[in-house]
Amino acid sequence: MGTMKHLENYKLVFLGDQSVGKTSIITCFMYGNFDTNYQATIGIDFLSKTIRHEDSTIRLQLWDTAGQERFKSLIPSYIRDSSVAIIVYDVANKESFFNTSKWIEDVRAERGNHVIIVLVGNKTDLVNKRQVSIDEGDNKAREFGALFIETSAKVGFNIKPLFFQISLHLLPLD
Ligand code: GDP
Ligand code: MG
Repeated sequence: MGTMKHLENYKLVFLGDQSVGKTSIITCFMYGNFDTNYQATIGIDFLSKTIRHEDSTIRLQLWDTAGQERFKSLIPSYIRDSSVAIIVYDVANKESFFNTSKWIEDVRAERGNHVIIVLVGNKTDLVNKRQVSIDEGDNKAREFGALFIETSAKVGFNIKPLFFQISLHLLPLD
């Protein structure tokens, strides 16, 4: 047998209210920068990033929501086939945190337990405006059987660890 390994593709979908930082997290991870003028969603369906870890290689397909926040009927087709759902809220916006319950329920309804859900509290750099504590985020993630991490796309905090944690859950255990 040859040593070529099958390259697995995984679909990661980003969900959450508008302006919580979904596009910024993707941009920070892909390009390592933060463009404060960049408001629009990425104009393509998805971006791919190959992750190597020891002998294994996987390809992550990052699917940004292109305004589907306002067209919830599109969400089921978007979530279908996803391996990972990244549900983002803004730690300085309590309502965006409350709304993550709906997003998580949508994902469970469509994918059951065949999906890794990651709850992400973004914008931790807004220290004086924080409305959601780490404990609240952590408790909610536990309640829904999700992973949890806080990030700041603005300063690049925890962006690589977010995707590294996801990769560890996707990599074959051997
Ligand atoms: P999306 O609608 O969820 O894709 O959110 P965007 O990525 O477009 O970000 C919405 C706004 O929040 C933009 O003005 C971003 O510059 C800003 N933003 C995104 N992430 C952060 C962050 O970590 N910290 C701060 N302070 N602002 C952020
Ligand atoms: Mg966006």
